[in-house]
Amino acid sequence: MKAAILAIGSELLGPDRLDTNSLELTETLERHGVELVSKQVVGDDVERIERVLRQLAADADLILVTGGLGPTADDVTREGVARATGRELSEDPAIVEEIRRKFAAFGREMPEVNRRQAAVLAGAEVLENPRGTAPGLLLEHEGTTFFLFPGVPTELQGMVAHRLEPWLAARRPRPPRARRILRVACLPESRVEELLEPVYARFGALGILASPGDIRIRLEGASAAELEAVETATRECLGSAVYGTGAQSLEEVVGDGLRRRGLTIATAESCTGGWIAQRLTAVAGSSDYFVGSVVAYSDRVKREHLGVPREILERCGAVSPEVVALMASGVAQRLGSDWGLAVSGVAGPGGGTEAKPVGTVDVALFRAREEPSRARLRLPGGRATVRLLATQWALDMVRHALREEAG
Ligand code: AMP
Ligand code: MG
Repeated sequence: MKAAILAIGSELLGPDRLDTNSLELTETLERHGVELVSKQVVGDDVERIERVLRQLAADADLILVTGGLGPTADDVTREGVARATGRELSEDPAIVEEIRRKFAAFGREMPEVNRRQAAVLAGAEVLENPRGTAPGLLLEHEGTTFFLFPGVPTELQGMVAHRLEPWLAARRPRPPRARRILRVACLPESRVEELLEPVYARFGALGILASPGDIRIRLEGASAAELEAVETATRECLGSAVYGTGAQSLEEVVGDGLRRRGLTIATAESCTGGWIAQRLTAVAGSSDYFVGSVVAYSDRVKREHLGVPREILERCGAVSPEVVALMASGVAQRLGSDWGLAVSGVAGPGGGTEAKPVGTVDVALFRAREEPSRARLRLPGGRATVRLLATQWALDMVRHALREEAG
């Protein structure tokens, strides 16, 4: 089975909106072992939609269309498909009633324009949309199957799960490849590539998706056993740099580790302004191990709320191993946690010196009954990247400390 995706929407041709729906659809197709042969974006232009659909239908057995099902005159996907397939569009009174009911549920009357969303192609099956007003459509036409999905990502996701997934599962064209994602923190992409040389030599290239301080490595195998062999080889090359799998985030992994060991943590944050606390508390259930945070941006707060002596601040500077170590122990002591994590750095763009250029960040982790961990980082990028990377490195320091605890 060959598939094509067509994303429709003039806004997707501008500089502000990205076609993310096709990524969602691609992931689903991949999982079901369907080959994607083409992916296109066109504006809300009925003639162009017709032309492109005719071309795609010559090449693909399955065409997934998203967008252009809205109620306004600029949404012309239904008309484009009608022209490409030579099928009539007609209003389905049951759908009009359904849309009317959805508006009434919010105490509103259905605007007349919404009737357009009740237009159904002759011979098409209606795909319910519990998350919005525009139903989708499923049409078999001359050996090609068309799915028409709304553009709103959450509505599309619902329909993909309830309608496309079962449709694909029933037709399973070839066994899907086994897949897994490994997550790696705090290594540059080029270093990961270098470390993975032996895996490439044995299994061929892996997919590497890099974002600042966080890399996803996509592993694949024809079978579960083959996938396992690739995974074992990859883990051997990367060692403890692998922090998790799939959609797991670093803060989840750290949180799990703290919970399992019955430890609590507090953060003292200068240049990250509470971002580490934000990441930790984004995980449901974090109250099991996260105590609180002091955003110690000014020296006064470092002194008065974390107990860092004035003399040390003046002698060593706010960005120094000495000060972050005291911030880390200070926050643990004052907030009553087992561990204290502290960060202080020069995020830029101003404030850098020769000794401490922009990107210099000190991190310390205080642990009751253990030697504190410390690191001086030289992080690349502008203010936003330096701050983000600082949170990543700090959380990874906690992860490594937890591994040590485990022995
Ligand atoms: P539509 O179904 O064309 O009315 O689209 C509704 C909304 O969904 C638009 O405001 C878009 O911003 C968004 N949208 C449409 N197509 C896509 C797409 N391919 N990827 C992500 N968002 C989209
Ligand atoms: Mg649109």
